[in-house]
Amino acid sequence: MAAYEYETHEYDVIVIGAGGAGLRATLGMAEQGLRTACITKVFPTRSHTVAAQGGIAASLSNMGPDHWQWHMYDTIKGSDWLGDTDAMEYLVREAPKAVYELDHYGVPFSRTEEGNIYQRPFGGHTTEFGEGPPVQRTCAAADRTGHAILHTLYGQSLKHNAEFYIEYFAIDLIMGSDGTCQGVVCWKLDDGTIHVFNAKMTVLATGGYGRVFFSATSAHTCTGDGNGMVSRAGLALQDMEFVQFHPTGIYGAGTLITEGARGEGGYLTNSEGERFMERYAPTYKDLASRDVVSRCMTLEIREGRGVGPNKDHIHLHLNHLPPETLALRLPGISESARIFAGVDLSREPIPVLPTVHYNMGGIPTNYWGEVLKPTAKDHDAISPGLMAVGEAGCASVHGANRLGSNSLIDLVVFGRAAAIRAGEIVDPAQANPKLNEASIDAALDRFDGLRHASGSVPTADLRLEMQKTMQEDAAVFRTDKTLAEGCEKMAVVAAKIDDLSVTDRSLVWNTDLMETLELTNLMPNALATIVGAEARKESRGAHAHEDYPDRDDKNWRKHSLAWVKGNKVKLTYRDVHVKPLTAEKDGGIDLKKIAPKKRVY
Ligand SMILES: Cc1cc2nc3c(=O)[nH]c(=O)nc-3n(C[C@H](O)[C@H](O)[C@H](O)COP(=O)(O)OP(=O)(O)OC[C@H]3O[C@@H](n4cnc5c(N)ncnc54)[C@H](O)[C@@H]3O)c2cc1C
Repeated sequence: MAAYEYETHEYDVIVIGAGGAGLRATLGMAEQGLRTACITKVFPTRSHTVAAQGGIAASLSNMGPDHWQWHMYDTIKGSDWLGDTDAMEYLVREAPKAVYELDHYGVPFSRTEEGNIYQRPFGGHTTEFGEGPPVQRTCAAADRTGHAILHTLYGQSLKHNAEFYIEYFAIDLIMGSDGTCQGVVCWKLDDGTIHVFNAKMTVLATGGYGRVFFSATSAHTCTGDGNGMVSRAGLALQDMEFVQFHPTGIYGAGTLITEGARGEGGYLTNSEGERFMERYAPTYKDLASRDVVSRCMTLEIREGRGVGPNKDHIHLHLNHLPPETLALRLPGISESARIFAGVDLSREPIPVLPTVHYNMGGIPTNYWGEVLKPTAKDHDAISPGLMAVGEAGCASVHGANRLGSNSLIDLVVFGRAAAIRAGEIVDPAQANPKLNEASIDAALDRFDGLRHASGSVPTADLRLEMQKTMQEDAAVFRTDKTLAEGCEKMAVVAAKIDDLSVTDRSLVWNTDLMETLELTNLMPNALATIVGAEARKESRGAHAHEDYPDRDDKNWRKHSLAWVKGNKVKLTYRDVHVKPLTAEKDGGIDLKKIAPKKRVY
């Protein structure tokens, strides 16, 4: 057994992650009077949320008519009827409140002439249950919305006396012998000490796992650590086969150009200069939902109409927009285009390519953020002591495909919901659980094993092998053949974890060891994604299967659950919640409006 001394800290609640979701949860928990600590591997305002550009969706009706039911319809259609209807209703009904709350906390939203919060059009957001023109629903702080939200929430959390443990890396959850989560074991990166956090409630807000793929818009820190910890704790991951490709990553660099660019009037062209989206999505054109636009771009390239010497990308035009609009509404991407593509976007188009952007799947939860441990009898059984919010969680409001600007709103709505729920079920007067020593020892043994790993494969090499495999075999279009080969390759790649080589044995700022821990988290995410995709014999949302081009509601309108152990994945399934929170007679949505139908834009 590895001998490490550790310091123990006791709290009512610990939140792991200080992105938008983690900070909103932390702030809410502290407001409820719970002793709250937020643990984060990077400084809070460096979390990936800082990079969110385009905005946050809420039906405020500042720019024209809008309704929460229209937002709900768009979200359900965007999800390709895989999202949980109760959670989607909760999201869209709470959204306006959550945005006004951010406004009052001090988020510097862009303004209209009248002084209202500025809202822009975004893909898939419409009026009149998809029958009317596009709606302006996405609230924006220029093209730096995430930056504005994250800084404001960090300030507010400090104001409410939440405690922060910054640059602490969470290694593994501590699970009681009865299956209750009791906290987490952490490694403090700057001095090498080990810390055990004992809590009545642990909230995972660790973000997505974009770095499973070779080309992603997400930060290098997006390694799905919470999902990895959950897998090792014997819990399931949900709907992992649904990975969103954003249509406009800068060719080569992968840096994001926000959908807000098309919202402000930008459009895509092929090598013939044709605005091809008009052909595929006659009504909403360049503002069809992301999975649709990414597939159309891929088809254009495949059919030989890509641009550039290798005909392998597409052009995004903003050069027709007035310079004032670019300066006022899109200053950040003007800079990104110059730095990462060498393009002056007031004169030339930007070279773009669909790039991995968002993970619809994650840790299954109900709409209070409580983690589920579904059994054959009870698909909604709760795993006590554990919550998950933000991109790490899967409530599931995005189903098979997320609409742009629906993630930032998901972070704050469900971060807040988790805090409300914790206020109800966590009793500050009660003693903390007696920690399960065996679980702490197991975490430290794993840590020590990796620290002294002396195999033959460097971490960076194995990571690259995983990323290339996933990029090749679990991409925008998938076939039985690529997926079957991908599963075989990934099983081999994942088994090489046992043959890793770590060269730095120290405990202080050991980035080799940190990246190795991250790789052990990326791997279960990758396996769950490709195995889930191989099993799903239909096309739905972001999962476009060439051998099964249609959606199959009879057999596949169900959530996948992936139970990962080592390099093996067991799949089970869970029912989709089809009932909204509110009955129609009480002012809820008309069920006929949200009945499954073919998804056209
Ligand atoms: C470039 C880009 C632009 C985007 N633009 C938009 C947009 O305009 N609108 C929109 O709605 N969505 C957008 N999205 C999506 C959205 O920003 C993300 O889904 C969201 O920010 C994720 O937030 P989060 O709080 O879940 O996680 P993150 O912001 O990724 O934060 C994760 C946190 O977990 C911590 N953490 C992780 N692992 C550990 C560990 N092992 N130990 C300790 N701490 C850990 C990290 O330190 C970090 O604080 C964008 C995404 C990208 C990549």
